[in-house]
Amino acid sequence: MNVIKNTTADLQEMDRAHFMHPSTHMRQHAAGETPNRIINGGKGIYIHDTEGKESLDAFAGLYCVNVGYGRTEIADAIYAQAKELAYYHTYVGHGNEPVIRLSDRIIKSAPEGMQRVYYGMSGSDANETNIKLIWYYNNIRGLPQKKKIISRWRGYHGSGIMTGSLTGLAAFHNAFDLPRAPILHTTCPHHYWNAEAGETEAEFAKRCANDLEKMILREGPETVAAFIGEPVMGTGGIITPPEGYWEAIQAVLNKYDVLLVADEVVTAFGRTGSYFGSLHYGIKPDLITIAKGVSSGYLPLSGVIIGERVWKVLEQGSDQMGPIGHGWTYSAHPVCAAAANANLDIVDGENLTGNSAETGGYFQKRLHETFDNHPLVGEARGVGLMAALEFVADKTKKERFDPNAKIGPRVSAACLERGMIARAMPHGDILGFAPPLCITKAEVDKVIDIAKQAVDAVADEVA
Ligand code: PLP
Repeated sequence: MNVIKNTTADLQEMDRAHFMHPSTHMRQHAAGETPNRIINGGKGIYIHDTEGKESLDAFAGLYCVNVGYGRTEIADAIYAQAKELAYYHTYVGHGNEPVIRLSDRIIKSAPEGMQRVYYGMSGSDANETNIKLIWYYNNIRGLPQKKKIISRWRGYHGSGIMTGSLTGLAAFHNAFDLPRAPILHTTCPHHYWNAEAGETEAEFAKRCANDLEKMILREGPETVAAFIGEPVMGTGGIITPPEGYWEAIQAVLNKYDVLLVADEVVTAFGRTGSYFGSLHYGIKPDLITIAKGVSSGYLPLSGVIIGERVWKVLEQGSDQMGPIGHGWTYSAHPVCAAAANANLDIVDGENLTGNSAETGGYFQKRLHETFDNHPLVGEARGVGLMAALEFVADKTKKERFDPNAKIGPRVSAACLERGMIARAMPHGDILGFAPPLCITKAEVDKVIDIAKQAVDAVADEVA
């Protein structure tokens, strides 16, 4: 029989021996060469570990704990629903009250024209559903050639076989034989690095749209089914779209009968200061991916919100093909839906979207004031409560650091030493911020102070 060991050292030993972590250096972790922190609690925007160390979490876990840690209202809702009905499937027309109420509120708050929500457990599986629905849509329309999906370099859409292919980051492709056909990647809309000398944001946005159009024409519009993009790029480096970008992109998609998927796994439910990123940027998607903020990570839940154009064809498809051959055992799980309803009650009741706009605006202002002229910072950027600092070796010449110098991870480590988590983004020397949406202005001041100390410390080391 297993003896329960619970000292931190024992837990760390068991962890290294038996637990495979995501996004972790396997050998170094197993050998105990890298930190192994065991988190055991949280309150508000703080988490703490088994050694009693507290950290301000300026990344809300993985930009998901939007209402903050320790919200007992959500725990109570989970408990009540688990006692009432822990599980029943939703195949062949079965429903449960929490998921019906959740779908109703999501559709009523989503951009115009959205019709139904299909549920999953992760952003990756929701995007997998999107790909299947897009292919099914064009088969039912009698367009079996129209299957290619265009994503963007530095987009992030998950790490499954197809969703990892949609992701436009080499680290998620290398040695996994990805990306798979029929997925293509177009220009990353990052003005700072990708604009030509003197090119305005609006000109650059047009060029991105032209690149997309050229790709569609090169491939043949009859073969291109959909375009997927995050309203604001997240894991690729928290990149806000250049002025006019979404308008220009949508004009191209409409011209060639190409569906638009807005991947709002990060941006939905308030992060940009609007309820949906699509509403913030005037995007009119056919499909919207949601996850993270729908349940603030208290339980796993994701979804695909399906717009009119696709929904009509899905109905037609069932008449032709019978019940749709797609479903997960845990789709529309009642306990996860109850957690999501309690979470959205907090988001709405405490006007966290409004706080994201107001306190987020303050955050962006302080970030620019503090870092725009900092010698280590090439660009400070963001919207609402998502932001990034990008570090450069030479600000005037716009020169990157040697990646081996690991400047981004070093600034992140310097933040952690000072009691704050800010994420070293996986591509480039970028420090990301996406704190819980309940953050106050005083807490923002603290985030900025710690970030400043950390950036200064690394700047001194490299000077
Ligand atoms: N889409 C976006 C925009 C994301 O940021 C993420 C995760 O960070 C995903 C999809 C994948 O979600 P998951 O990690 O839940 O599979």
